[in-house]
Amino acid sequence: MEHEALISTRCACERRRASWRCKECHQRTMFCHECMQNAHLEMPFHRIQKWTGQYFRPGSLWEVGVCVIVDHSNTNR
Ligand SMILES: [Zn+2]
Ligand SMILES: [Zn+2]
Repeated sequence: MEHEALISTRCACERRRASWRCKECHQRTMFCHECMQNAHLEMPFHRIQKWTGQYFRPGSLWEVGVCVIVDHSNTNR
């Protein structure tokens, strides 16, 4: 039935399909957005990718809910 999913890996939490991966973590495991968020609360600057069903597109951790703390010393307005 899920013919659209080339990768239908289920996340380790078994609640969602894993469609995110991190290029900078050593593990190649893919996660759902929630587990990706939890794994990166301490590492908000990792670059991640999202599986769209056809290819990996570049993503950002804020897309999965990780708040990046902005250094206000660089704010210039
Ligand atoms: Zn998960
Ligand atoms: Zn990472």
